[in-house]
Amino acid sequence: MTLRTLESLGSLEGRRVIVRCDLNVPLRDGVITDDGRVRASLPTLNALINAGARVIVCSHLGRPDGAPDPQYSLEPVAQRLSELLGKPVAFARDTVGESAREAVSSLEDGGVVVLENLRFNAGETAKDDATRQAFARELAELGDALVSDGFGVVHRKQASVYDLAQILPSAAGLLIATELDVLDRLTENPERPYTVVLGGSKVSDKLGVISHLLPRVDRLLVGGGMLFTFLAAEGHGVASSLLEKDQLDTVRGYIAEAKERGVELVLPTDVVVASGFAADAEHETVAADAIEQSSFGASGIGLDIGPDTAARFADAIRDSKTVFWNGPMGVFEFPAFAAGTKAVASALTEVDGLGVVGGGDSAAAVRQLGFSDDQFGHISTGGGASLEFLEGKKLPGLEVLGWQ
Ligand code: ADP
Ligand code: MG
Repeated sequence: MTLRTLESLGSLEGRRVIVRCDLNVPLRDGVITDDGRVRASLPTLNALINAGARVIVCSHLGRPDGAPDPQYSLEPVAQRLSELLGKPVAFARDTVGESAREAVSSLEDGGVVVLENLRFNAGETAKDDATRQAFARELAELGDALVSDGFGVVHRKQASVYDLAQILPSAAGLLIATELDVLDRLTENPERPYTVVLGGSKVSDKLGVISHLLPRVDRLLVGGGMLFTFLAAEGHGVASSLLEKDQLDTVRGYIAEAKERGVELVLPTDVVVASGFAADAEHETVAADAIEQSSFGASGIGLDIGPDTAARFADAIRDSKTVFWNGPMGVFEFPAFAAGTKAVASALTEVDGLGVVGGGDSAAAVRQLGFSDDQFGHISTGGGASLEFLEGKKLPGLEVLGWQ
């Protein structure tokens, strides 16, 4: 572990420092619904401001198609950042054009500008190396050094994350350093019992992490949309619930491997089945092996784990010394189907040890359900990035900062 830190950049006074943050916050009608990622970027930004740097913040937001798209403008984020920093923050209407150059040249020592969405430029996410590098060179002209602090994107080989770090003197920011400290504690000799709770919408997203974690964990709890593929793999009908048929064999393999390794695989015993995918859908709790016998028959959709399952999951979590949780237990966006997620979150706050929440939707869920960040050991800002780290993958955005 030889991650280059801020100190490695030397004195930053008067220097133009580009900071690659992950300010990809959820927005509804132009209003930020969870500013967790903006707050997570503050320690690094304050450190740079205090060091007298001229701070140039860049980030992506959403998935615009490589061209300007007003609904993905970072302007509301710049405004929120200004409120949180308690000082003016300039906003550039483009990323590397006229407006960006002007805003950067007007910066004073300790001043901050936010550039417009990186992904308004096709070069940011281009698969073609030369296209990406060309965009990175344009970005590089704006600054003298790069501080990479967007933990949520370090698993991406993108211009601002990977190529730019090879052009400018570069180092990791404080958020990345903190995230890695915690993830290290989850991989190097975690205190036992070690429990991993997985949920969310897609089994295929989480497959890699399951195979990497099975040899390491004591217990694996499966909820969320992926639980139905596990139930189906055990031969149960799941009516119209989320099911990834092409993953059934892989999941059967995991079930067998868990048994072989003595890992306690905890699957739901009851689920909340709804008449449809809607906030006000009729719903009832049924046994996990009787989903097709609900009053909604073949059209029933499982939208949450049931109360019995939630209680068992909560017990298993509270009884652990290390817990990593990724993926909501149900469609928590609908209050009627948020109970399972709430029970898991609540148990996690009671862990006598390290309790980590990872994943964008999971982090949003705990805040939406009324929990505060300091009730948890750590809330990771990166879902995909933390999963890939736990899978033992090499992350390009970290390797380029010296991480091995
Ligand atoms: P994270 O961002 O924390 O990694 P994911 O993106 O994997 O989590 O999954 C989050 C989504 O999973 C949520 O929007 C939630 O509504 C959905 N989800 C959870 N349970 C179910 C379910 N039973 N059926 C459909 N979607 C579900
Ligand atoms: Mg998600």
